[in-house]
Amino acid sequence: MPELLRAARLLPQCLELPPVVDDGAVVVEGQDILAAGPFAQLSREHAGPVRDLGDVTLAPATFNSHVHLEMTHLLGKTSSGQGFVPWVQSLLAQPLYDLDASAVRTELMRMEQKGVAFLADISTHNAARVGDILSASGFGFVSFAEAIGAAVPGDAAALLPRVGAVEDCGRGAMSVAGHALYSTSGPLLQAAKGLCRERGLPFSLHLAEHADEDQILLTGENAFLDLLKARGVLSGYDAPGARPVPLARELGLMDADTLLVHCVTVDGQDIADIAHSGATVCLCPRSNEHIGVGRAPARALLDAGVNVCLGTDGLCSNADLDPYGEMAWLMERDSGLDLPDAMALITVNPALFFGRTIAQAARLGSLAPGRLARFSIVPAAILDIWIHR
Ligand SMILES: [Zn+2]
Repeated sequence: MPELLRAARLLPQCLELPPVVDDGAVVVEGQDILAAGPFAQLSREHAGPVRDLGDVTLAPATFNSHVHLEMTHLLGKTSSGQGFVPWVQSLLAQPLYDLDASAVRTELMRMEQKGVAFLADISTHNAARVGDILSASGFGFVSFAEAIGAAVPGDAAALLPRVGAVEDCGRGAMSVAGHALYSTSGPLLQAAKGLCRERGLPFSLHLAEHADEDQILLTGENAFLDLLKARGVLSGYDAPGARPVPLARELGLMDADTLLVHCVTVDGQDIADIAHSGATVCLCPRSNEHIGVGRAPARALLDAGVNVCLGTDGLCSNADLDPYGEMAWLMERDSGLDLPDAMALITVNPALFFGRTIAQAARLGSLAPGRLARFSIVPAAILDIWIHR
């Protein structure tokens, strides 16, 4: 029998309703939303049980569009606010890829409690294990295996781990990501993106994260590159002499199924090019602040019509994995961002991007008929920022 949930406010994130519905209601049956709207209207036609949630703001369950679960054990173990090179040095001093499955499950539980329903994870060495863990969870997901280095396998399909549990669970998919334009060779990035295109999968790439990246690509002379070379990485590096966005475009990596993560050092022309490509941008503002690389131009990206999402990045550069934390950070610093617009960055926008290729994602992101009955409660701290603006 359908049940009606009543809440003081709804943030429905769908075009059929106003951005904020005071004294709202959602009618659910089993896994599905049947209706959403004003309580006064829906209660007239509803004969089943009513659950009054009280003075809360009910929103769709959220997406964390960029996370590194394999680095969960690095919480509090990296340098903060000193820039990219000191952060990488502190990172490289740790056992980087020692996935701690029990710590990952604890973080998944924390995210579930915060109302997260979908994760896009990047793993360099543990994508199959993360895929297994996510299959056994209740999350929708993409588990990206990160392609890094120069060597292109004879058969590009070797880049994509096959995980039976992921195929069986029906809530997610394995896919392939590039690390960055300097650490993953052009041919390898093209092979990874080509495979995603062929299989109808999303592709993800860290892009324009810090000034060192620009310098490495442009000149090949940079302290970070020296540090990598001293470790035997990128020893034969040949700078392509182009900035990140033009290079990604030239390599054919940017289209509507590509997620560009960070985009801190983009300029006006880059933003126009991203908007033209149809690619989605995932901002990770707290991670950028932790590492000390600057701030992405969130307002300019939104004004240009780019589809923008938020991710927490890993616990190697953040305090928690709650997308609401990223949203609060942006709202506090970007006074132009209204609550429903900010909410879109962790609900309907990522649903639009991931929903193109992952069926589960298309059923999340809005309180609308036919969507899954998965919810989050907007934290009081965010309502305070909104009200006291
Ligand atoms: Zn990342």
